[in-house]
Amino acid sequence: MNKENNLNLQCPVCHMMVNKDNFFLDYQQRRFLFCSQQCLQNFKANPHLYVGRPAVPAPAQQGHQIIKIRIIKPGTLLTDEQCYVIENEIKQMMGIRSLQVEPDFISITYDLMQVTVEQIETAIEDTGNRIDKTLGELLKHAFMNYVEETELVNLEDSAEIHKH
Ligand SMILES: [Zn+2]
Repeated sequence: MNKENNLNLQCPVCHMMVNKDNFFLDYQQRRFLFCSQQCLQNFKANPHLYVGRPAVPAPAQQGHQIIKIRIIKPGTLLTDEQCYVIENEIKQMMGIRSLQVEPDFISITYDLMQVTVEQIETAIEDTGNRIDKTLGELLKHAFMNYVEETELVNLEDSAEIHKH
């Protein structure tokens, strides 16, 4: 077996080609390589989304996305400048599909296959802390007690019965 050839695999989370084993995980007797720490964390959080059983491909293997939307209310009015900083920071994250930051609410649409709730929560808190420590805590609290979560597509539940 040629070891070199084995190190040229697709990241199971974002499908990028990976040829370094900086980030890897052994799962179901296979070694998976990841392009980044974020993809590795995602995989660890929900491995069944990315690797199915022989007869049942995982949602990611069928090219699916799991789109979720979360609307949070900061509990205080954000200034235009704060909105700008928060928007710029969060939209750079992998897996964010759309983002709206207004003085009284933040709406985030994301692909659960590419980004976890914990990663978004951490990013929001970090961004808030950079503006003001109190704001960071407020945003984190608001995110954890989000007012609405709508699942536009929930393939996690239907993956078992969904066949092409
Ligand atoms: Zn990746």
